[in-house]
Amino acid sequence: MTDDATVPGARAQDEVAELLSDLIRIDTTNTGSTATSAGERVAAEWVAGKLDEVGIPSVIHESERGRASLVARIPGADRSRPALLVHGHLDVVPADPAEWSVHPFSGEERDGYIWGRGAVDMKDMDAMVLALVRDWARTGVRPDRDIVLAFVADEEAGGKLGAHYLVDEHPDLLEGCTEAISEVGGFSITVRDDLRLYLVQTAEKGLAWMRLTAGGRPGHGSFVHDDNAVTRLCEAVARIGAHRFPLTLTPPMRQFLAAVEDAYGIEIDPAEPELALARLGSISRMIGAALRNTANPTMLDAGYKANVIPGTASATVDGRFLYGEEEEFERQLAALIGEGVQREWLVHDQAVETTFDGPLVDQMVTALKAEDDGARPVPFTMSGGTDAKSFQRLGMRCFGFSPLRLPADLDFASLFHGIDERVPVESLQFGVRVLDRFLRSA
Ligand SMILES: [Zn+2]
Repeated sequence: MTDDATVPGARAQDEVAELLSDLIRIDTTNTGSTATSAGERVAAEWVAGKLDEVGIPSVIHESERGRASLVARIPGADRSRPALLVHGHLDVVPADPAEWSVHPFSGEERDGYIWGRGAVDMKDMDAMVLALVRDWARTGVRPDRDIVLAFVADEEAGGKLGAHYLVDEHPDLLEGCTEAISEVGGFSITVRDDLRLYLVQTAEKGLAWMRLTAGGRPGHGSFVHDDNAVTRLCEAVARIGAHRFPLTLTPPMRQFLAAVEDAYGIEIDPAEPELALARLGSISRMIGAALRNTANPTMLDAGYKANVIPGTASATVDGRFLYGEEEEFERQLAALIGEGVQREWLVHDQAVETTFDGPLVDQMVTALKAEDDGARPVPFTMSGGTDAKSFQRLGMRCFGFSPLRLPADLDFASLFHGIDERVPVESLQFGVRVLDRFLRSA
């Protein structure tokens, strides 16, 4: 694949696809329950073995049986500089083989892609980082500053048993880390042949998963009944589901929209930016969600028989709030929920945001442009949540930077948690080259 094995990063480019395939073949499905989440320990030990082969020591800690996270530290040339954390989760969301073109845990290479669950979320980054540090160890490359590697469990269920656990119980392993990179960002959107936007995540929305419970008078389904828990709950759920929260432009999204205006030579109506975002393709569904708070009803639970009115009814709602909007979101939500319905948080975690500037960002920009002269890096806010929420608690500036130059026609957004998740081998090799430049001198 690459001609010269003496070129730094050459071996990493050669083995990244194989490492990714191997990692995909370790089924690390996170069902949300420890009893049924099997593979994280196997995956962590596999990573430890790959690091050990090249003389990089690591430690594995379990939060619960099998819920393993691995940490390793690669000493930098200048030990007085603060460290950089590179973190990736090893778990994946479930996949149903019946829906896929290839088995989701086959790691098959086909048509220039590596296929399987985790190929873009986020065993791709895990494999790129692993390939690179193995190459460095073999060729004697030392990064400028300490690089701490964390391969963690449980991200797909909120990170309580992975990143959260490391931050709470083993912060010493992350000592001195002031900045962090991980998912979701660093991928390209093609504007035209000589211009690609690379979306670097500098912010992500907060999580507010909630259960709503309505009470009422139980009774016979054939009677006149004016105090029905199901009716009350559904009114609240319908209000929430139909509500469009007001547009709120945070600094990363202002910068992002300005970059889109410039790249496409258009003017974006500040009142309706979604209209302009549509031209970015399917990714606009993800990015558009970062322009306002959102709340989507996702689960309903009530009753047990057609002719019995139950005394309670409950629903689950997936709420997401922008950085700085937490209180306003709760106020808006309370007004929508109304009287007679209780709200409890199931998962609640902070929004995070940092600025798109400073030496680390300069290095990202330089590394991307060196490998793609049509690259234009831009910040954006991620609508979903990542482990950045945990690591930020230790004061780190967190970025989504898992560089991938993608084919113009690839529907990347739909691959996350999607059927036929896959990643181009060439994109992985590009990512290795960018990370090599970036991490050496970051
Ligand atoms: Zn992920």
